[in-house]
Amino acid sequence: MSSNKSSTFLRSIKPPKKNNSYAHSSPQQATGYSGKVLDKFNTQKISISVIGAGNVGSAIAYALTIKNVASEINIIDVNEEKQEGEVMDISDGIAFVETGVVKNGSFKDAKNSDIIVVTAGSRQKPGDTRLDLAMENKKIMKSIFQKIGRLKPTSIVIIVSNPVDVLTHYVQKITNLPAGQVLGSGTTLDTSRLRTMLSLKFKVSAQNIHGYVLGEHGNSSFVAWSTVTIGGIPIKEVKGFTQEYAKHTEIEVRKQAYEIIEKKGSTYYGIGLSVANIIKAILFDQSLVLPVSARLDNWNGVSNVCLGTLAIVGRNGVKGLWPLKLNTEEKKKLKKSADLVKSYL
Ligand code: NAD
Repeated sequence: MSSNKSSTFLRSIKPPKKNNSYAHSSPQQATGYSGKVLDKFNTQKISISVIGAGNVGSAIAYALTIKNVASEINIIDVNEEKQEGEVMDISDGIAFVETGVVKNGSFKDAKNSDIIVVTAGSRQKPGDTRLDLAMENKKIMKSIFQKIGRLKPTSIVIIVSNPVDVLTHYVQKITNLPAGQVLGSGTTLDTSRLRTMLSLKFKVSAQNIHGYVLGEHGNSSFVAWSTVTIGGIPIKEVKGFTQEYAKHTEIEVRKQAYEIIEKKGSTYYGIGLSVANIIKAILFDQSLVLPVSARLDNWNGVSNVCLGTLAIVGRNGVKGLWPLKLNTEEKKKLKKSADLVKSYL
């Protein structure tokens, strides 16, 4: 096509009419490809920021990517190389999922996110308890939320770094959000460990096993056996269940993290799926009863501390606590756990 012919061809394309909804000031915008035009339609964008691109942060980002719950997942770490590597690796699979984009995020992105997941900080070395990490990880929480600044009033923060109950309480204090919008992963992982163990023993799907590990996500956690049912039958009535088995299983659930750390250095796949499940409950406003870490206010006699409790989780984070009545022995265990966590606040 000669240049003369080409300009005749271009002149023959009529500009859009003034009252046409695509009538924007520049030809680029008129095509509908400019960010500005797309933003207008993209009011439902769901943005999740994962702070900390270590083992846990990247497992959570990966679980979220394959669960197709977000338009955008930002990964943020002070170690830029690690952050970029994880973004590149997870993004390599984006062609096989519906998630929009996994990208290198900044603390400014976190400020605008619907959900901020915090996994940054030290992890247990073999022999450490989670509570040993309190001092160091409180400092890291402080520096992260100073960098992010004032959070938008609809943001939900999920703390995963340990000791998760201590840090959830701390972040509730240092951010501008209502307490229900700052929750911790609590004993969701411990509870899924229990359900898996019961599933293997009683040969029933873990999805048909209900019941909870409560209290500190740590050595003082306990199985609330009074809550456990298998296919609707209280576990105490299920053939094969004995007090000896209960004791042994409770210890096994508590020991699981230590054993994994001993064998492979850290735990991350289980927590990846546990956190993705919490996030799904929030985004789909499911009102799912989950043992997340939330502030107790005379729940089975305990107040003013965050612990793995039974919370109703939906679009506003923790909507309230489920009024479960623990038995006397379980109440004692909850109080013991609360006293321990309180000594680290
Ligand atoms: P990791 O060492 O692999 O990763 C931690 C990451 O945090 C590192 O990449 C580090 O660069 C980053 N980081 C440190 N300070 C930061 C800051 N100020 N801003 C941004 N990033 C920062 O550790 P991990 O195995 O991923 O574990 C992370 C945390 O999760 C630990 O505290 C661990 O105990 C905890 N954890 C919790 C659960 C649970 O059930 N709640 C389960 C497993 C692990």
